[in-house]
Amino acid sequence: MTVARPRVDPVETKALVPTMGALHDGHLALVRRAQELADRVVVSIFVNPTQFGANEDFDKYPRTLEADRALLAPLGAEVFAPKVDEVYPRGPLIEPVEIGYGEDFDKLNHPKNVFEGATRPGHFDGVLTVVARLIDMTNPDVVVFGQKDAQQVFLVKQMLAERYPRIRMEVVPTVREPDGLAMSSRNRYLSANERQHALVLFRALTNLSLRLMSATFISEALMEARSFVEVEPEVRLDYLEIVDPATFKPVDDSFRGGAIAVVAAWVGTTRLIDTVNLIV
Ligand code: AMP
Repeated sequence: MTVARPRVDPVETKALVPTMGALHDGHLALVRRAQELADRVVVSIFVNPTQFGANEDFDKYPRTLEADRALLAPLGAEVFAPKVDEVYPRGPLIEPVEIGYGEDFDKLNHPKNVFEGATRPGHFDGVLTVVARLIDMTNPDVVVFGQKDAQQVFLVKQMLAERYPRIRMEVVPTVREPDGLAMSSRNRYLSANERQHALVLFRALTNLSLRLMSATFISEALMEARSFVEVEPEVRLDYLEIVDPATFKPVDDSFRGGAIAVVAAWVGTTRLIDTVNLIV
């Protein structure tokens, strides 16, 4: 006699890749990694109003939804392109996702208020708000982010640990143009000349990581790297720092181990960021 076994449906897993569209090979690397990790891959395409400051490029941010769909279709990824009022039914307001507010909470130096957060006040409240909304709307098992936005990675990781502990986070290395420029949707704002000057960011980071392989003081190597960026025409440095991956705070000369170098600068009127992991 054969005994009918109850049928157990295999559990289908889902990965979410949050993007603002204007997709390039960096985004597609995230999608490919997501496909290795989950049965279904949802790519959200949403230019999130709450992460842009009043004087930033929200209105002119490239919106290329049809081209984005065409890039994703051959990969078999699903597109989730909600309207602003679907993501924010009560209006596009930041609902701060409170993370890391311990007893000794120091608002000024909270990792969401330094570097990108210092120059773009409220930016990370907007980012965390939208990532939480997109997670709530799509219910993923895995979320995939790019290392290029190192501070975003640090903060989203913290939010997931506190708010969505069952969701796995996967971080994909930065995809670059052959000459080293980190791919970015904002690169399309650059003129041919600015595009050349923008290379200084990656060069400064690679020189810095090479300098630190010899016995150079971190503070000295940083000063050199900053000067290297500052003398480049058309480039205005915002910050260039080395941070401890555990805290996102700048390291001092006594620090040893794996660290993250982060840089941001305006090239003409375009703000670009880049990062590399290094050992000091
Ligand atoms: P964005 O559309 O710029 O908000 O980026 C969406 C996701 O793609 C974020 O997780 C970014 O970190 C990631 N990303 C953007 N540019 C790159 C790149 N050049 N390499 C890898 N990931 C990237």
